[in-house]
Amino acid sequence: MISKKIDELKEQLIESTQEIIKIRSLEGEGKEGMPFGEEVNNALLCALKISEDLGFKTKNIDGYAGYAEYGDGEEYVAAVGHLDVVPEGEGWTYNPYGAEIHDGKIYGRGTTDDKGPIMAALYGLKAIKELNLPLSKRIRIIFGTNEETGSNDLPYYLKKEKPPVLGFTPDAEYPIIYAEKGILHFTLSKTFALKDGEIIIKSIKAGERPNIVPSLCEALVTGKSIEYFKVKLEEFNKEGHYNIDLESSDNGVKIKSYGVSAHGSTPQLGKNAIMHMIMFLNTLDIKGDLKELLNFLSETIGTEVNGESFGVGYEDEPSGKLTLNVGIIDLCEDKADFRIDIRYPVTINNEELIKKLEATAGSVKAEIKDLDLDEPLYFSKDHELIKKLQIAYKEITGNEGEPIAIGGGTYAKSMPNTVAFGPIFPGKPDVIHKPDEHIEVEDLIANAKVYGRALYEMAK
Ligand SMILES: [Zn+2]
Repeated sequence: MISKKIDELKEQLIESTQEIIKIRSLEGEGKEGMPFGEEVNNALLCALKISEDLGFKTKNIDGYAGYAEYGDGEEYVAAVGHLDVVPEGEGWTYNPYGAEIHDGKIYGRGTTDDKGPIMAALYGLKAIKELNLPLSKRIRIIFGTNEETGSNDLPYYLKKEKPPVLGFTPDAEYPIIYAEKGILHFTLSKTFALKDGEIIIKSIKAGERPNIVPSLCEALVTGKSIEYFKVKLEEFNKEGHYNIDLESSDNGVKIKSYGVSAHGSTPQLGKNAIMHMIMFLNTLDIKGDLKELLNFLSETIGTEVNGESFGVGYEDEPSGKLTLNVGIIDLCEDKADFRIDIRYPVTINNEELIKKLEATAGSVKAEIKDLDLDEPLYFSKDHELIKKLQIAYKEITGNEGEPIAIGGGTYAKSMPNTVAFGPIFPGKPDVIHKPDEHIEVEDLIANAKVYGRALYEMAK
């Protein structure tokens, strides 16, 4: 029934999606009633206007978020999406805010992340309304406005509104993400009190974000001729497949280590240029505190990505192994700072994890500081929410929809009782944050069917 109704609403859904894609909703300077700037606010007003035109009650939560609502009942269920986008960047074939349709695809920033999917959810609700399906709970489509640049939208919403009793966010992939690891970012820091020896490392620099495996690391070293480093590099290369270059400069020898970039939640897919650099430098005749640190890092991390030798090799059944990525290094003659991204399994206690990190770092008098913690998300596979989403997914797609675990974190972490559900179907390319972001019209329609069916299942 819902599917048939969505087919009737198809043209309207495409038009509404195009309308909102055309608003370049990047975060801007906050103003009165527009905490994330005028462009984001325009997208929020547009979504609320579309909702009103579809016959829904709407509310604007002081420009932080808004919602469309349908039905009666004490409790409500929700689909939670976001209207803000990341900058378009370079390399587009079509206007990133043109919402042009070519070969059955709507192109534009936000088509998949996340305006298209939240419009699909809104039209799913429209189908429920038109069919007059009996409900025991209210249904809300919640429009967030600050997912990409700080997630300050939903905390504000939750100060003003109760959370949904069940919810999903169409902001990741299918089928259902029932486990998202915890995320811990921290700085491993050490000052060099004892300096000694001929070789001096003037600087090592790499990385901009902890959650990216760095693909380039550069060091400047003095105290020996380039010939010395060449001999050492040849020996080092015998041990493994590294990609390190040497170059003479006026200030000393420049060393460049090349790796392979990957997302910090999947460090096993990359090669860490920082760690290769550290391991190479550790083979040089360096002395003092710096040598102690290089040796420590080579032994406790090296090319490992699961934290075993650092003493945090945790693993559990729902979410798999802990991952560790050294994303940034900033080293000078006096001190070194490493910014590290850890994704820890959902059943692990973060206090215990932090204690272990401190104990290991303490063995070389290094400090763990500037901790930034994002708790894990975990629902049992038997949880009512997972079961209901599975029913909807199976009915519309014909596939089982076995729930999956990921390194985290999606928008679901910002809303209680909520998991990530779609919008990318298995086997489809991930176009999020990339040039030529698009959504296939067929997938947009399929999303509306799945989301409409899911909302009904949650609220009936
Ligand atoms: Zn998103």
